[in-house]
Amino acid sequence: MSNADPLPDPDEPAPPDGGGDEPSDPERSGYYASQPPFDPEAYNRVLGDELAGARAELARAAGRVDHARQAVATAEQVAAAAEQAVAELDGDRRQALEAAAAARRSFEGAAAEAYVWRRVGVEQAPLVSVDAARYEVASVYVSAVAERDRHLARRHLAADRSLDDTTRHRAEAVRTAERDLRRAVEELADADAALVAVEERVAAYEVGSHVVVAGFVFPVQGECSFIDSFGAPRNVGTPDEHWHEGTDIMAAIGTPLVAVEDGVLERVRSNRLGGISLRLRGDSGHVYYYAHLAAYAEGVTEGLRVERGDHIGYVGDTGDALGGPPHLHFEIRRPEGGVVNPYPLLRLAWERQLAALDALGERADGVRP
Ligand SMILES: [Zn+2]
Repeated sequence: MSNADPLPDPDEPAPPDGGGDEPSDPERSGYYASQPPFDPEAYNRVLGDELAGARAELARAAGRVDHARQAVATAEQVAAAAEQAVAELDGDRRQALEAAAAARRSFEGAAAEAYVWRRVGVEQAPLVSVDAARYEVASVYVSAVAERDRHLARRHLAADRSLDDTTRHRAEAVRTAERDLRRAVEELADADAALVAVEERVAAYEVGSHVVVAGFVFPVQGECSFIDSFGAPRNVGTPDEHWHEGTDIMAAIGTPLVAVEDGVLERVRSNRLGGISLRLRGDSGHVYYYAHLAAYAEGVTEGLRVERGDHIGYVGDTGDALGGPPHLHFEIRRPEGGVVNPYPLLRLAWERQLAALDALGERADGVRP
């Protein structure tokens, strides 16, 4: 954004080195000179289409879970019946079946091992071996494994042939039923995860958030309070006058700050307005700006990969917060650039955190936002 264009398109991507309280040149005055005017209608409108779409998807996701749950119940019944049929075999047949199953497991284990060995062994041994002797050793080992495989395969086939048709069919039925049950359980887990993700989207849109981040964690871990101050005037009457592009979360100096999403830390450094600050580029593509820290957490560096909930710093009053109440200035930028009001998502995450603490019976007397 150049100063020659004082009213750029609000949708214009954020400048590569700019945005928020974080000037590209810490000494430059009037950093916000080119900030577009605040348009509450655009920033605070309810995303009706997105909400309707997410609700429709919620119904489908719930249906998928029901279907998957029924499939698991059916597969469990089939597996139990197949196991019962094997249990009803007489003693000799069951013994033969157990011997065949053991031979099969040995063969399959050796086959998996050989597969791994041959891929890295035969193809790469000549490349990684520095001398002929080592290559010799590798070759002998490969043929020994192959010989053992052949032996195990023969044993497996012989054991299988010793079974009569009834026994073999019942054994196969158990294997098939177990495989189907495994698949049904996996599908149920996938369906459950999909349902949780859609539920999060619906919840976020319902409270007026314009962004949805799966598993978003509240950034301040301790007593705090915050209101919706997005768009409020800041630094009035100074060259840095602007409208507020984030949410200020008030908390005591030293309150721990955590990553809100899995991602990578960027710009772990100080700037004039933001003070000790950093950016977290989340895996969803959203970028989070944390400003006015007292300090970084130990080990926090530029480029550090973090998981949501990881400790990254402490609440403070650095930058232009000096002399005022300590707080975290928190911003969310879209992957394509441009700030969004973080308040609805923060509020949702905060309520969830309180509910989780309530459930644990460990709730501190935190001030509600
Ligand atoms: Zn702020």
